[in-house]
Amino acid sequence: MRVIGTMLIGNEDVTGSEPAFRAVDPATGEPLEPAYAGGGQAHVERAARLAEEAFASYRTETPRRRAAFLREIGARIMALGDVLIERAMAESGLPRARLEGERGRTVKQLELFAAAVEAGDWHGVRIDHAQPERQPMPRADIRMRYLPVGPVAVFGASNFPLAFSVAGGDTASALAAGAPVVVKGHPAHPGTSELVGRAIRAAVQAQGLHEGVFSLLFGADHRIGLALVEHPAIKAVGFTGSRTGGVALMQAAARRPEPIPVYAEMSSINPVYLLPGALKARARSVAEGFAVSLLGSAGQLCTCPGLLVGLDGPELDAFIETAGQRIGASEPGTMLTPPIHQAYQAGVQKLSQQPGVTVRARGGEPQAPNQCQAVLLEATAQAFLQNPEGLGQEVFGSCALVLRCEDEAQMLEVARSVEGQLTATLHLEAGQDEHLIRALLPVLELKAGRILANGFPTGVEVCHAMVHGGPFPATSDPRSTSVGTAAIQRFLRPVAYQDIPDAFLPEPLQAANPWGVPRMEHR
Ligand code: NAP
Repeated sequence: MRVIGTMLIGNEDVTGSEPAFRAVDPATGEPLEPAYAGGGQAHVERAARLAEEAFASYRTETPRRRAAFLREIGARIMALGDVLIERAMAESGLPRARLEGERGRTVKQLELFAAAVEAGDWHGVRIDHAQPERQPMPRADIRMRYLPVGPVAVFGASNFPLAFSVAGGDTASALAAGAPVVVKGHPAHPGTSELVGRAIRAAVQAQGLHEGVFSLLFGADHRIGLALVEHPAIKAVGFTGSRTGGVALMQAAARRPEPIPVYAEMSSINPVYLLPGALKARARSVAEGFAVSLLGSAGQLCTCPGLLVGLDGPELDAFIETAGQRIGASEPGTMLTPPIHQAYQAGVQKLSQQPGVTVRARGGEPQAPNQCQAVLLEATAQAFLQNPEGLGQEVFGSCALVLRCEDEAQMLEVARSVEGQLTATLHLEAGQDEHLIRALLPVLELKAGRILANGFPTGVEVCHAMVHGGPFPATSDPRSTSVGTAAIQRFLRPVAYQDIPDAFLPEPLQAANPWGVPRMEHR
């Protein structure tokens, strides 16, 4: 299969009516063919209306059919073979091994959602049986289940062209929930998006589903994304990207006559707390692990550890020395896009010029376009507490700031001062750091979606218990996760059926429970 340069609206290949754009190979700075003409209002209208039509039938498909569809998408992505990997390499600058791993993760994610659809917990069935004899009033028969909200707009992320893009976690969870999807492809990887989009469309056709279950749109600027969020047929939004972009979409969704939820995953510096016992026992090996986590994918991961917090002293000196050596010896990595590279350079410059911030190490000099020169910075916790806005912003790339705390109380104060985060990490030594662990945990669980010990936050497992979410600005809705099977919940809403005769109830609520759905029953 080759890329043609069209949008995919239901069964049709559609050339846009707006100015065209091309992907850029970030390793060379050269544009890639073909050109993608941007979609306009009419294309948004067509895709959203088709999705609305498809919703009527797709939401009532049996779990078995929906699961088969998700598995077929995975198989068709694998069948694209090397064409997909090579195009994604050219468009993202990411190495083959990383993209092959990401493809495996994407397919595994689809399989996990297929299994979750079949297992049926997501129906959320609760049954309060009637109590006709209850005094002073009889109780009605009340049965609750979850329904998909309606068509979902998905914004593909730049940093995971497969796993968080056209067939990524947002799309997989929306399709699993029974919601048709209109994807706004990320302008950095339109060819990768088109290939994956064609695989999804082939799966829609092979499974005999309504063509509106999936469409893919492109745009040369923000207008098409905003038009999609504003379209009345769209009922929820999934997004991964910048804080500015996510907030713009939240505001657009809130301004609609019928406001809709936006699940935006935006910005996080993922603080790592280096507790005294752990630093005493293994400062240098923790520093080695930190450097690997910071440098992977040129730091372009939402869980990249951007803030380290430790008590001032020789152990923290040893940590900084080892981390600085590793970072200083690092090769520069190609960043995803020229704008992301520019934003990284501007971010590093701004952060390093804040009062009290000093540079402790810089990675190897860039040798080619768009390369990330890693950097390790240092400041006192006091400087951070006086200027949390200046020192607490995400710099997307391999950039981290170490804070020296005077005492444990100051460490806790830093923990209370950071914004909402996707993750918070503790490096701890059992038996030595107990008092501080007990003081930090209640603070961290209010700040982050995931708390981990003696590891690093990069490498998010796709599983049932994962939470990839957190309070603003990590996400726009702290009640949700965008990774793992609980992500389905974002695109569902509960409905209660009171005294509806059995023959008219949906299958999960019927007395015979024909789909074998897990149910919570109260008599
Ligand atoms: P982005 O600029 O937010 O773009 C993400 C998607 O949203 C694109 O499809 C973009 O398309 C659209 N968009 C952006 N701003 C919009 C607006 N105001 N209205 C409507 N649509 C909008 O993110 P990016 O290109 O992936 O990377 C830029 C920066 O985002 C990075 O430097 C980094 O700071 C951050 N980022 C963070 C994460 C994370 O996980 N925390 C991941 C990736 C990126 P158009 O531009 O075509 O409208």
